[in-house]
Amino acid sequence: MTESTPRIRSLLRQADRVAESGKRSAAENLYRQIIEEAPDNASAWIGLASVVRDPAEQENAYERALEIEPDNLEAQKGLDQIQEEQIPDPVKDGLEEAEQAPSLSDNSGEKVGTTSRPIPEIYDTDLSFGSDGDSLVIGGTSPVHDHTHLEVTEGTEVLFCANHPSRQTHLRCNKCGKPICSSCAQPTPVGYRCPQCIREHQDIYYTARPLDYLLVILVTVPLSLLGGWLAMRIGFFTIFLGAGAGTLIGRIAFWAARRRRGRGMPQLVAAIVVIGGILPALPLLIFGGINFGLLWSGVYIFTATGAAYYQMR
Ligand SMILES: [Zn+2]
Ligand SMILES: [Zn+2]
Repeated sequence: MTESTPRIRSLLRQADRVAESGKRSAAENLYRQIIEEAPDNASAWIGLASVVRDPAEQENAYERALEIEPDNLEAQKGLDQIQEEQIPDPVKDGLEEAEQAPSLSDNSGEKVGTTSRPIPEIYDTDLSFGSDGDSLVIGGTSPVHDHTHLEVTEGTEVLFCANHPSRQTHLRCNKCGKPICSSCAQPTPVGYRCPQCIREHQDIYYTARPLDYLLVILVTVPLSLLGGWLAMRIGFFTIFLGAGAGTLIGRIAFWAARRRRGRGMPQLVAAIVVIGGILPALPLLIFGGINFGLLWSGVYIFTATGAAYYQMR
């Protein structure tokens, strides 16, 4: 095993979990971050190889892992598998397989045709077009007609990300249809979407208006100051009451916003609770030096802020 810091190990565990849950592009980003910090970590390279879709990239990642750990079995096996699959098949074989198995799973192998286009990318296209009933559905039950081959070619054509014009991609947003790269694509229950469509969707969810923010501030500032002041008075019991106070502040703030949610509103309330906890303790902090009373302010800020934030989410 390559020597690694606890931080890298914990990042790796996180990346492995994300990969196991099937969020390949998120996992890919995590592995790449780890590799940036620790380029000689074979496990990160193997992890990356398991989530990237491009066989060439996969091969490169396994090779890097083997450079670091020449005896690494997992990397050797992975590399063998890719090289086996790269024996050219007629493109048609690959396409037939895509038709027979519309829901290709991740580990069904990356069969490669003569044009070296892996099938999972066709699957991606299927995903991104599946919901709008367009004729571009490849793997589904669309009526068979003469243009099948042409459509498949269109489906796997190389696109460029609308946000990153230099990045090639085969993915499209399933709402607005524009090409997006793997780091822009955000998985949703209905398929991949672009950041812009996600934000638009959130705007429907966030209905708070400026007045609501003002009301939230007017209500939470005095309450937070009161909470912070009380925490210093009741001392030890803050341990039990801090979270309750935060919950109460969060509930009242939500009510003040007339039950509308707003972008950044939970953070705003959390910040006010923190300030409300700090301000009453300030005289003690300045004139009293290190003081036991400050501990309860700290406990209050910690518990109440989290609870208030949770209520506003
Ligand atoms: Zn979109
Ligand atoms: Zn992009």
